[in-house]
Amino acid sequence: MSTAAAYAVSTPDGRFEKVAIERRELGPHDVLIDIKYAGICHSDIHTARNEWHGTSYPCVPGHEIAGLVAAVGSAVTKHRVGDRVGVGCLVDSCGQCDPCLASEQQYCQRGTVWTYNSRVPEEQQAGGYTLGGYATQVVVTEGFVLSIPEGIGLDVAAPLLCAGITLFSPLRHWNAGPGKKVAIIGMGGLGHVGVKIAAAMGAEVTVLSHSLSKQADGARFGAHHYYATSERQTFKDLRGKFDLIVNTVSADLPIDHYLKLLDLDGTLVILGLPDKPMEVKASTLAGYRRSLSGSMIGGIAQTQEMLNFCAEHGIGAEIEVISADRIDEAYDRVVASDVRYRFVIDTATM
Ligand code: NAP
Ligand code: ZN
Repeated sequence: MSTAAAYAVSTPDGRFEKVAIERRELGPHDVLIDIKYAGICHSDIHTARNEWHGTSYPCVPGHEIAGLVAAVGSAVTKHRVGDRVGVGCLVDSCGQCDPCLASEQQYCQRGTVWTYNSRVPEEQQAGGYTLGGYATQVVVTEGFVLSIPEGIGLDVAAPLLCAGITLFSPLRHWNAGPGKKVAIIGMGGLGHVGVKIAAAMGAEVTVLSHSLSKQADGARFGAHHYYATSERQTFKDLRGKFDLIVNTVSADLPIDHYLKLLDLDGTLVILGLPDKPMEVKASTLAGYRRSLSGSMIGGIAQTQEMLNFCAEHGIGAEIEVISADRIDEAYDRVVASDVRYRFVIDTATM
């Protein structure tokens, strides 16, 4: 066992406090990571505030982890002490079911082990559930530890481990590229990385944001067009325009209005995860053979592919680095859409 400093919240409306947590003894296939940076994803906020019901407290969120390997178990071959590594939303899966065999571990049929708030045996984590990356160290089995290529700073790489792969995966799955018109709804943590990746893939990228306040940034990230969804005219002008729409918004949206922006055979992919059910008219889908789908982060092999792609294209997240005592303030600012574009905790401040 080793002891790490961490930041935990103890109730849905509590504040983060510094705590000491135990990390498990290194097994033969385990990697001990000195965490340098941890991104703040909106999913951390949904969980810490129990908006998805089922949070175990005290809760240590964090699934955008970047750091250096501090030690490896006796059988580890993939990583060495000193390597630049990352951990995303998943830390284990059964390894036997069809999704796992296809390296889609996030859809494991026996249950993906998430980086935080996921049931595990007591011997893996005292308390019986995982504790995430708002901490100085973490132990993860080598197959779930990614390599961060040289050329991307660890701080701007951290958010790629969730935000990056969550966008990269559907953009690849629905073939974003030259000749494809792609719209991204919401230019927050997920959305801004999505704009960069979709543009690097060669797609024609449109941002649908609730105002025009971030328009210049959108252009800088590679967006070709930018519209305010607060304007009714936007929905008239863009009707039937897109092959693919990716929704990253954390709040409820009138999704039927957005479906109408799809061209024949277009797909709208839901990534944002508000808790309330959506309303969709059958005629909106049937009328133009439109599809409504969803996507959950991405598997381990594709996460490595995404990191390599981002390194090749010079893509990192736009970040604001904060000290660990500012997590509560950062959460409020994320909820108020007042973040440009991802808060990243510097764990040296723990
Ligand atoms: P974020 O940084 O808060 O970005 C969300 C964006 O949505 C905001 O920047 C804002 O964009 C827009 N937005 C927020 N509130 C809105 C409202 N009331 N009406 C309209 N637009 C609003 O959050 P994030 O970290 O990118 O995460 C976004 C969502 O994705 C969360 O629900 C998170 O849990 C989920 N998520 C899903 C996956 C997955 O695998 N499917 C992975 C990670 C996260 P504009 O200012 O541009 O309008
Ligand atoms: Zn996330």
